[in-house]
Amino acid sequence: MDLTHRDPVLDSELTVVSDREIQGFRRSKVMETAAQLTDVYGPRLTASPQYKKAADWARQQLETWGLANAHLESWPFGRGWSFERCSAHVVSPMSFPLVALPKAWTAGTNGPVRGKVLRVKAESEADVEALKGKVAGMVLWVGQPRELKGPEDGGVFKRYTEKQLDEIEQYQIPGARGGRGPMGPVDREAFIRRRRVQQALDKLYAAEAPLAVVEPSERDANVLRLGGARSYKKGDAQPVTQLVVSASQWNRVARLLDRKMDVEVELDVKAAFHEDDTNGYNVVAELPGSDKAKGEMVMLGAHLDSVIDGPGINDDGSGVAALLEIARALGGTHPQATVRMAFWSGEELGLHGSFRYAAALSAEQARAILVYANVDMIASPNGFAGVYDEPGAPAGSCRRSPSSSSATPSSPSSRRGPAATWCRTCRPRSTARRSPTSPSCPSRTPGSPAR
Ligand SMILES: [Zn+2]
Repeated sequence: MDLTHRDPVLDSELTVVSDREIQGFRRSKVMETAAQLTDVYGPRLTASPQYKKAADWARQQLETWGLANAHLESWPFGRGWSFERCSAHVVSPMSFPLVALPKAWTAGTNGPVRGKVLRVKAESEADVEALKGKVAGMVLWVGQPRELKGPEDGGVFKRYTEKQLDEIEQYQIPGARGGRGPMGPVDREAFIRRRRVQQALDKLYAAEAPLAVVEPSERDANVLRLGGARSYKKGDAQPVTQLVVSASQWNRVARLLDRKMDVEVELDVKAAFHEDDTNGYNVVAELPGSDKAKGEMVMLGAHLDSVIDGPGINDDGSGVAALLEIARALGGTHPQATVRMAFWSGEELGLHGSFRYAAALSAEQARAILVYANVDMIASPNGFAGVYDEPGAPAGSCRRSPSSSSATPSSPSSRRGPAATWCRTCRPRSTARRSPTSPSCPSRTPGSPAR
């Protein structure tokens, strides 16, 4: 910027930015916002009562901070789920409490129940076939024992040094050699195999009604990774009670069973399916732009829903709190282009909320969105800066001319001009493995789980 030629309009805008920066950095409320989301509401499973409370609160805050048209937008989802208590104990041949929690969208026990534990190997569809006729009324101990790592081996937590944090912050140029991808290569065949086995198990559970299914956590050191069943449809049968237990305790019970000892457990899980309101809700609000922008819009988004495993601090409480802080700092201002903020639901189940939003846009409304920035897990080393690269998605710069590439001609991005299109040939591999939520990509099909 040439500061020798002062522009009075620019000066006044810089003053606003400066004031807002002071507001943001010196009087930040971001930690208060994060605490409200995570301590007060906790896990914000799509369509759960906690999610709805968090969405209502966010809407109210956006309105209070001076954003216009703060509202909830519904989309058809299915039934919600929540649980109030989970108590699990081994009661024979000795007594000890289990560190256990239920998987989402599975049934409670309707009071305390006791059952004998059956060790179950379910690595293949043939394994599941061999279980037929044996599981009714049993507590199934499903999985394989594994070696556990101590904290010193980086088993669960890792504290990054300042230098490592600096390196994480470096933006990797898409396509550059050695670019850091967020996830390793996916073994598709193994994924499909596991899915088939799970489908066979689900059928067996539904047919023979075991008392409960207990699996070891994928995480060590008593950290539970839960996941959930996908029984969202109103009126569907409720899947059998399914718990995830601390891996070390799962191993212990498996060793007792290997010694031919009878093991009995007592379970008391209070869980509920919510079928009175089957909508998902996105929260949307905006800073209206001036007339100069001719209806153009910049969109910012983050997903307000979280998994059930924890209070959704990092994924994506961090992104939501950051956007709400921006809203608080900028509320009441009038940018040139409208700034619309969206807080999605259904993201953890497959980008459903943002997909529904995008699908409902007219071509004209989609064209008006100059850029969409999605903010997810900014407090995580798993985060990365990327450009959505599926056909039809808006994007950054591409070195290849769209006219000589496979760029989608009808995509909103290509209509905006050659500089705004990735072609599939030179798409960046580092961003291809995982893409952020894109409300502007009609080609994205919901259904794949995102974490
Ligand atoms: Zn996320």
